[in-house]
Amino acid sequence: MSKFIFVTGGVVSGLGKGITAASLGRLLKARGLKVSAQKLDPYMNVDPGTMSPYQHGEVFVTEDGAETDLDLGHYERFIDENLNKFSNLTSGKIYYEVLTKERSGGYLGQTVQVIPHITNVIKDFIYNSAKNTDVLITEIGGTTGDIEIQPFLETIRQISLEVGRDNCVFIHLTLVPYIKSSGEHKSKPTQHSVKELQAMGISPDIIVARADEELSADIMAKISLFCNVKKDCVIENITLPSLYEAPLMLHKNGLDKVVCRTLKLETVAPDLTEWKEMVDHIYNSSKDVNIAIVGKYVKLHDAYLSVAESLRHAGYMLGAKVSISWIDSEEVTAKNISAMLSGVDGIVVPGGFGDRGIEGKILTCKYARENDIPLLGICLGMQVAVVEFARNVLGLADANSAEFSETTQNPVIHIMQEQKTITDKGGTMRLGSYLCSIKDGTLLKELYGKDEIAERHRHRYEFNNDYREQMISNGLVISGVSPDKTLVEVIEIPTLSYYIAVQFHPEFKSRPNKPHPLFSGLIQASIQK
Ligand code: GLN
Repeated sequence: MSKFIFVTGGVVSGLGKGITAASLGRLLKARGLKVSAQKLDPYMNVDPGTMSPYQHGEVFVTEDGAETDLDLGHYERFIDENLNKFSNLTSGKIYYEVLTKERSGGYLGQTVQVIPHITNVIKDFIYNSAKNTDVLITEIGGTTGDIEIQPFLETIRQISLEVGRDNCVFIHLTLVPYIKSSGEHKSKPTQHSVKELQAMGISPDIIVARADEELSADIMAKISLFCNVKKDCVIENITLPSLYEAPLMLHKNGLDKVVCRTLKLETVAPDLTEWKEMVDHIYNSSKDVNIAIVGKYVKLHDAYLSVAESLRHAGYMLGAKVSISWIDSEEVTAKNISAMLSGVDGIVVPGGFGDRGIEGKILTCKYARENDIPLLGICLGMQVAVVEFARNVLGLADANSAEFSETTQNPVIHIMQEQKTITDKGGTMRLGSYLCSIKDGTLLKELYGKDEIAERHRHRYEFNNDYREQMISNGLVISGVSPDKTLVEVIEIPTLSYYIAVQFHPEFKSRPNKPHPLFSGLIQASIQK
């Protein structure tokens, strides 16, 4: 039977619960266990796919096409296991399921209630995700005390009763604030937060104490005594220069050891050699490289989390410290573009929706093409590169994507055939992993070294095949297509040092110790600039 680890958060949000859960996953995997991770989110959207990135940060897409919380990206990057549609559950999804069943008569004669009907659906979801794993890590979104998370807490309490306390561990992550005027850390918020949990019938076994500076033995002992956890089960988690150091710090502070002891898991010591080598690379870079991300959600860096991480991963391998210039595409004009991109070694035009900031992205592609600045276009980034090529190389002045202009005579990007009749917005795009065939003799082939790849998608629009021949005869190379050759997946301009744009999202598959070839290629070309 699988063992269950539940991670809750207290005091404030944004403490890095996801990083802590992901780090623990890495440590347990390094001990030879088969680990999976999932996140339960208390909001009422069925998934984050319909939310603005400003509300929720990036939407992370899994292989099987689920649109999920960005913490799943941390899980995949740290644990290096592909997650799936069982890896993210929202309150909205649960209520949707229960109410649909109620309407179809699935509960005839019964009063449908939060307990047991809602909690039973959550329970089934958790048990299902635990199949074929040694350990399932379940992170509960939100903060203890939130009204919305109560059904989740009630469910995990019931699970602990059902599976037994040897098979279940509760980890609570809290903030231990430092009060400057008195020069000390304070344990009181942690005590209050643990009390809230205890009122729900949950006694944490382990407390992970988040602080910016080292915690004294006194404060750790106080937390242990007042929160009723063993002394070595108070684990210090201090702010680090790189998040990838977190697994090493948490291991040093004994987290995986006390988790395995509590769960009575006999394992080998974790092999962290490869991870340590990767972290060494982070701190031993010999070059600097500056990459611009030109997008419309740049004020919230989390909106491009996986893209930014992928750039850094590539830097680790190539010995380069990647700094990112966040450029708001709405502010880019023909006049200011050279000033805005001065000192930039390479550019990413990332994905997005809607017409705000589009012209700035098109100008960016033009600038990169005319000045031979390495560029990687992703999803919408590929579509604007195609529009730019059509306007300025083919001379089709009004070329556009049908997403942004209904009246253009040259819709070089148009809505995909199967999308034409879809009216629902949630979960209806072309989502998840699709195969792509690579043309010989191209940059794409050189980067991947393979004839066929699989990458994750999230879009409704595509390259319009009516323009294929005209684009090719003017120097654009279509280097990746769907196996049936109907969909253009990758374009490149071979006369430039690195100009490549992809309809998919490579950022979801980059790992800190296994950078993605498209990002490594961009960083390499940018270093050489
Ligand atoms: N808005 C574009 C489409 O739907 C691109 C989507 C994206 O960048 N993820 O096709």
